Amino acid sequence: MRYVSTRGGAAPVGLSAAIAAGLAPDGGLYVPEAMPRVSRPARDGYLAGTAMHMLEPFFAGDALAEELGAICAEAFAHPAPRRELRIDGAHLLELFHGPTAAFKDFGARFLAACIVRTRRHDAPPLTILVATSGDTGAAVGAAFHGLPGVRVAILYPDNRVSPRQAHQLGSFGDNVRALRVEGTFDDCQRLVKGALSDPALQADVPLSSANSISLGRLLPQMAYFGHAALQAGEPMNVIVPTGNLGNAVACLWAREIGLPIGEVVFACNANGTLPEFYGGMPYRPRDAVPTLANAMDVGSPSNFERLRHLFGDETTLRASGRAESVDDAAIRDVIRRHAASDGEVFCPHTATGIRVFEKLRLAGDRRPWTIAATAHPAKFEAVVEPLTGRTVDVPEALQAMLSREPYAEPMTVDTRAFGAWLRAW
Ligand SMILES: *Cc1c(COP(=O)(O)O)cnc(C)c1O
Repeated sequence: MRYVSTRGGAAPVGLSAAIAAGLAPDGGLYVPEAMPRVSRPARDGYLAGTAMHMLEPFFAGDALAEELGAICAEAFAHPAPRRELRIDGAHLLELFHGPTAAFKDFGARFLAACIVRTRRHDAPPLTILVATSGDTGAAVGAAFHGLPGVRVAILYPDNRVSPRQAHQLGSFGDNVRALRVEGTFDDCQRLVKGALSDPALQADVPLSSANSISLGRLLPQMAYFGHAALQAGEPMNVIVPTGNLGNAVACLWAREIGLPIGEVVFACNANGTLPEFYGGMPYRPRDAVPTLANAMDVGSPSNFERLRHLFGDETTLRASGRAESVDDAAIRDVIRRHAASDGEVFCPHTATGIRVFEKLRLAGDRRPWTIAATAHPAKFEAVVEPLTGRTVDVPEALQAMLSREPYAEPMTVDTRAFGAWLRAW
């Protein structure tokens, strides 16, 4: 399998090269040259086995192909159960059983397993830069922690992530360091982009990134949707809480290669770029507004180019799907109401999906739906607990992370200071 740019201006490359590069040289995103079709995997297999079956054609011809089994075993070491909710006709696909209790663990662990296998033993360490507003940095830090030949610098906006998120980000040590940046998330991204586009710095310190456009994060996310769809017994209709469209595009790719997935609806927060587009307006990316579902605070979804590429043009794309906006008041209402009525406690992101399901029912839709639960509510206790009136039990892996003493170094929004810090590491 070769990978081409969504913008059509870059030479096709193999999988390892596409993963190493992140962005294509013409500024586009890498997509498969042609979408493969796979035979239906066994229904009763393990998640890692389904993943291997689905991903095989994407690895064909690449040096990593013979490592695929081992890579899947490492990335899919935790389950993604699909369970019935006590809400009529709804299932929850729980993607939060990994080390940092959000779905990003799957992609981050898969990417890490790929990257360590493409490093030569005698090469200088590769430094992965990750700007984060919370969840991504923790997943990437946890995935690379303790691996040989790689290290991670996490940049997060000081005082703009929740105390529990800050604790997680600073809890790693060893080859993973946290920098609390005196600025916004955009400032963190600017520092990362500045470093990545500085050839002199790159010559001294080999750098890479681990953002959500990486194929190494996107491809594995197809697997849990496919695995769940096999269990559903009929084409599985899915509601995906959406920000950068990484999870949603992976779900559509899984359908494209032949897994029994039916309709896919995007649940968005108050950031209305996608809902407006699907509502018939021109695609208009913009600055993000802050919401309770902060991992979905995206005004310019980075995987939109992949979505458009999949459908060919915007008209076909618009006709093919739908996206719904859920504001903070509705998020609060869902969390409060379900904790009281059926005992289900949702994270704010998952709550947007539940709300979209309720809207479908109100509109007369009687079909079964599966809602992707993207994070454990214990990660967002400051939002959830005041609404439910009780404490959320913290999953063991998250608890282990929170029992370590956090440490983050201060950093100013100054590319030269950041470069000096990287050279001194
Ligand atoms: C990242 C994230 C999302 C959004 O996923 P995308 O792939 O960016 O669309 C939703 N919920 C949670 C908890 C997340 O961490």
